[in-house]
Order: sequence, then structure tokens, then C-alpha cells
Amino acid sequence: MDYIKDNIKLVLDNIEKAAKKVGRDPNEITLIAVSKTKPIEFIEEALKSNIINMGENKVQEIREKYEMINTKAKWHMIGHLQTNKVKYIIDKVSLIHSVDSLKLAQKIDSQAEKIGIKMDILIQLNIANEDTKFGLMSEEITDFIIEVSQLNNINIKGLMTIAPYVEDSEENRQIFREIKQLAVDIKRKNIDNVNMDILSMGMTNDYTVAIEEGSTMVRVGTGIFGKRDYSKR
Ligand SMILES: *Cc1c(COP(=O)(O)O)cnc(C)c1O
Repeated sequence: MDYIKDNIKLVLDNIEKAAKKVGRDPNEITLIAVSKTKPIEFIEEALKSNIINMGENKVQEIREKYEMINTKAKWHMIGHLQTNKVKYIIDKVSLIHSVDSLKLAQKIDSQAEKIGIKMDILIQLNIANEDTKFGLMSEEITDFIIEVSQLNNINIKGLMTIAPYVEDSEENRQIFREIKQLAVDIKRKNIDNVNMDILSMGMTNDYTVAIEEGSTMVRVGTGIFGKRDYSKR
């Protein structure tokens, strides 16, 4: 599994280059290794390369992997989250990237209160992505954030988006730019409990472009662990 170590080196190198290209500090950018569908040994390998942030999109998978890896890793919920499953991961994840409804935010708030924590969340945006039905439209975002910010056990830390799959990553540049601008606009409103420090955008095919446009968290799966095989599941 040496290739995982090599891939991580390559991705970190690309992150550094992309950041420097636009005069940013590479340390502002967090690499999330998207370990969904991949076995524990792969995660152990990433941990050995000092990558501690793991992205997963299924509640059940987080529970199983958490059982084995525990707090050696920081777990990121990056997939669609059903309200009735919040209770299973609230004590395990460090950031929920995929908040896109008031109902979900309220559930996270009440479950966080139950265990006495404040949960960090991102608001998921759907900008020009017909491949996914999840996420808010940019017109809805301000009102939504104002409402969610009133929940006491949630901190809004920023925005997340899943850009469309494109052959040429340049095609997504405008989307990343719009989200950065949206974050700047929201920050200017100085809403309590809301900051826009995190922009979770960029995946294997487009993370360097996302970084050039202001991403602070890139979610890379294939580029680290190789292609995913869904046929055995
Ligand atoms: C699977 C997934 C990723 C990683 O995708 P790759 O193209 O393999 O890097 C990133 N973000 C989300 C939300 C995902 O579901």
C-alpha cells in the first residue's frame, strides 16, 4: 500500500503549489482523505503519513470505522445526513459538511445539547450541479444561515459544495469563485455564531482550481486511495 503514502505526498505537493501560485499560505488548507468504501488498513496508512482528517458519507461506515480507529482520526461527515441518524454520529464527528435543511440543523442542535457539546457544521450549497439534489440554492442561503445561527448548540463554520464532475477542472472555477464571494458577503453581515473560515470545496479532479479560488478544505478520495469499487457492496 505504499502508493497511498506516495499519493498523499503528491496531493500535498499539489496543494502547496496551488496555494503559492495565488499567494496563499498552504497551511490554510486542510486535506481530508475521503476514505468511504475503503478498509481500515487504508486509513491506518493515511494516519502514518500524518493525515488525520477522514471523510465518510455513510453513518454506518463512520460507526464501524470509529469503533476501530477512534479518535486517532478526525471524522468528517460529508454525505447526505438523515435526521434520524444524527444521534449515531454526533459524538464521533468533528465536522458535519452537509447541512442543508432546518430540520437537520435542529436535530443536530438537540442531539448536541444532549451530550453537552457545540457541533461545528458547514452549510451545503448546490451551485449549478444537476448531479446532486442536495444543498441550498445561493438565494436561500442568507435567510437559512440567520435561522440556523439562532440554535445554541451549533457553530456555523462555513460553506461546502460538491461541484459537478467535469473533464476539465477549469469548468468549475466560476462555481468556486461564486462560493468564495458568497462567503465574503455572509461574513460582512457579522451574524452571531457564524463565521466563514471554512470553505470545503474541491475533490480529486478539481482541488487545485478550488484552492486557487479560496478553498480551505479539499476532500480527496480517489487521488489518495485509488478508485472506489462499489460492486462488492
Ligand atoms: C466521494 C466524495 C469525495 C471524494 O471524491 P473523489 O473524486 O474520489 O476525490 C468528496 N466529497 C464528497 C462529498 C464525496 O462524496
